Formats: sequence, structure tokens, C-alpha cells
Amino acid sequence: MSKRIMVVDDSRLVRVQLADLLEGTDYEIAAYCRSGEEAIAQYDEVNPDLVTMDIIMHGMDGLEASKIILKEHPDAKIVMLSSLAYDDTYEKAKEVGAKGFVDKPFHREQLLKVLGEVFC
Ligand SMILES: [Mg+2]
Repeated sequence: MSKRIMVVDDSRLVRVQLADLLEGTDYEIAAYCRSGEEAIAQYDEVNPDLVTMDIIMHGMDGLEASKIILKEHPDAKIVMLSSLAYDDTYEKAKEVGAKGFVDKPFHREQLLKVLGEVFC
């Protein structure tokens, strides 16, 4: 059974890249959200196995959105997907309860490795 992923990113390019990279893998993209607000609103209905979360987005950032999702769904699996804007971003991601971190620009192997670690 493939794992269902909810992709949260305000960049259309990243959404397309992810779809491309995950093609033919054990992961399928169940939903795309363009903002943290949308992710929070969609989470219940989509009920994904994993969320990839951008950090820098218009409106609410990915750290805040993750915090809110994890408050309601403590077992949510969230992997941050971001270019490091600040040195303490890894730490903040860990603090809010993210299960992993993938740096942008990302590569297929790196992405699949981090996603795999979340499920083992
Ligand atoms: Mg962004």
C-alpha cells in the first residue's frame, strides 16, 4: 500500500518537482496545499500518512502550521522541506515536532531517505 502524502508548499515548481520525484515510488501525493492555513483546514479530510511542509510561505509559516496540526493530531508525521533561512531552523523544526528535515534544493535520494526514516 502506498503512503499518502499531503504536500504543503506555496511554490508551484516545488509541487511539480515533488510529483515528479515521487512518481513510481511507494508514495503518492494525496493533496496539495498552498499555505499553512489550507493545510490545517485540509488535514482532517485528507488524513495523510505524511505531510511535507514548506517553511516560508505567505501568511502562516510552516512551523506554526505544524505546531497547530500536531496539537490536534499528535501522531501526524511532518517533514519540513525548506531552504535554511536561519541557522536555528533545524532546531525550531525539531521543537515543533517535525519528524525530519529536507533541505531545498532537494534530490530524489535524499528525499526518499528522509521519508523512509519516518516510517521505520
Ligand atoms: Mg515557500
